[in-house]
Amino acid sequence: MNIILLGPPGAGKGTQAARLVAKHGMRQLSTGDMLRAAVKAQTPVGLEAKAVMDRGELVSDAIVSALIDEELASMGADTGAIFDGYPRTGAQAEALDALLAKHSRKLDHVIELEVNEDALVERITGRFTCANCGEGYHDTFKQPKAEGVCDKCGSTEFKRRPDDNEETVRTRMTEYRAKTAPILPIYDARGIVTRIDGMADIDEVSESIERVLAS
Ligand code: AMP
Repeated sequence: MNIILLGPPGAGKGTQAARLVAKHGMRQLSTGDMLRAAVKAQTPVGLEAKAVMDRGELVSDAIVSALIDEELASMGADTGAIFDGYPRTGAQAEALDALLAKHSRKLDHVIELEVNEDALVERITGRFTCANCGEGYHDTFKQPKAEGVCDKCGSTEFKRRPDDNEETVRTRMTEYRAKTAPILPIYDARGIVTRIDGMADIDEVSESIERVLAS
């Protein structure tokens, strides 16, 4: 099974992808995570991408498609792929078709998480994660049970993404509207898109996604 999770920043793609990984043993291919790892490791790709990411703009199609190619090459044929944050442009959608063919895979579903943009700004600017295990938290919606201590692993170190500030979030949304939303008709024409209310409760969104996978 190969699926794309589409939706603006903060729609819940990463959260839902992590659940699919835990439940079905699929692999999450998040170009955002790959780029952040490259920035941290100061690789040539990371050095090139950092400023672009900090502004909330899109990194070049060639860079992200090469990252996806490498990941697909490293995966067993029977491990399902969840594309999270990729493709984000028409050129990436075309590249993905070519990469799927190259790696003998077929796209089964495109799931679009529909959300209210104003609510997203609050969602994104309040989010933070455990620096040790990656568990996600939120200033308003999900504080750790004991202040300053991760519920899951007990770590006291937390981190915020540098691009989760309001100005950058607005740019990321503009990029989504201008460059990513227009690729949906390509997949609509193939009859593989399902739209899900991404403002619903996290468990409800997961259930809706499970129904799509079972269909
Ligand atoms: P994300 O974690 O998906 O929100 O991505 C964080 C940032 O990484 C984005 O704002 C872009 O700067 C960059 N990025 C991630 N995925 C892509 C992609 N498929 N194409 C271009 N830039 C990307």
